[in-house]
Amino acid sequence: MTKPGLFQGRASALIASQMNVVAEPHPDVLIVGGGVIGLSIAYFLATERLSVTVLDQGQPGQEASWAGAGMLPPGNLDFAQDPASRLRGFSHRLWAGFSRELREMTGIDNGYVESGGIELAFSGESQRLQHEAQGWRDEGVAVETLSFTQLRHIEPAVNGDVESAYRLRQFAQVRNPRHVKALVAACLARGVRILPGCGVLGFKVDKQSDGRTRVLAARTIERDFSADKFVVAGGAWTQSILAGLGIPDVPISPVRGQIVLLSSLPLPFSHVLNHGSRYLVPRTDGRILIGSTEEHVGFDKSNTAAGVAGLLEFGQHVIPKLANAKLERTWSGLRPGSPIGSPYLCQLSHSSNAYVAAGHFRSGLQLSPGTGRLMAQLITGRQLELDLAAFQLAGPA
Ligand SMILES: Cc1cc2nc3c(=O)[nH]c(=O)nc-3n(C[C@H](O)[C@H](O)[C@H](O)COP(=O)(O)OP(=O)(O)OC[C@H]3O[C@@H](n4cnc5c(N)ncnc54)[C@H](O)[C@@H]3O)c2cc1C
Repeated sequence: MTKPGLFQGRASALIASQMNVVAEPHPDVLIVGGGVIGLSIAYFLATERLSVTVLDQGQPGQEASWAGAGMLPPGNLDFAQDPASRLRGFSHRLWAGFSRELREMTGIDNGYVESGGIELAFSGESQRLQHEAQGWRDEGVAVETLSFTQLRHIEPAVNGDVESAYRLRQFAQVRNPRHVKALVAACLARGVRILPGCGVLGFKVDKQSDGRTRVLAARTIERDFSADKFVVAGGAWTQSILAGLGIPDVPISPVRGQIVLLSSLPLPFSHVLNHGSRYLVPRTDGRILIGSTEEHVGFDKSNTAAGVAGLLEFGQHVIPKLANAKLERTWSGLRPGSPIGSPYLCQLSHSSNAYVAAGHFRSGLQLSPGTGRLMAQLITGRQLELDLAAFQLAGPA
């Protein structure tokens, strides 16, 4: 799969010039991993005037954060009933303003739009649907239950097999490649050093008198990078990075998700259409993403015949007209899966200066502004706007 170059023009020149800096600076914070999570943390830290370096083993923002579908389900911080929903509600509040801020700063429109989302129920699934809709109501999110007739009025191209549906008008979406491009540009504008091709192989660590450890530097093949504080935001690769800090078995593992991209103009539907873990996301330019699979196949980013066929079949079942859509391309990405589906956002308990922000699984885009802002508060010792106790990682025994 080839991807459009992220670092063209000015951003590329800036990064290249940063690579040539002779005297190695000692930033306040060094972040390992330049996905949407690492970049969002970097942005909010830089906004607090901290000096930040981001190291990425590849090109920043080109892994799961590029591959995802960019769906942003709503939330309501005032009524959310569990920590994960509160984090979603917190991020939901930030998305529109954050997108505007990035656009004003960089001139890059990340495509954030409240397109609305519809969850579909086929034969025998209406009870599941009602239960889910009640969950949204309990959370204080506006839900409209739709009969088939109402659904067909809103989305006439939907298959006649659909039994019922509900709509979340506040369901939004963002275009991942544009968002990470905007984040990179905004980080650079705020003075963040972003170093691609710098894989962290391990850390230099000092033992303190209180029994805790202090990280002195991140080791790469070329040199060591010192900093006051370190954040591991390595997405699906986090387990091996944390092993270098003496935490061997963090339960974060890659979960492959395949995507099929079609195009069809005029768009035959306008809402994000969900059915359980699969979905159709319409983009304003006529592109349609169909996702996704959940596969435990290690770090293999292939597309498979069965994966692509299953998604194509699903897409045509939901919107029969898609049989005539143009097949543009396929790709896959590696979600950072965690057992509870929620991320770890904390300081490492055995370390005086190391943090982790990883394991966002299927929700890394939607939770990224909240994660960035809260991690910046945690790292700078400021009052947290949201309690992060539920996102702790058990330390080494
Ligand atoms: C098909 C698919 C669909 C998805 N759809 C959605 C969606 O609709 N909505 C949503 O919210 N989320 C979605 N997600 C999930 C979301 O994309 C992820 O949760 C999110 O991107 C995770 O961000 P991250 O920064 O933690 O990881 P990544 O984007 O994977 O970034 C991790 C970075 O760390 C770097 N790295 C790894 N090891 C090292 C090392 N040793 N040294 C230096 N750098 C290193 C990598 O190169 C990478 O750039 C989807 C994911 C997939 C795959």
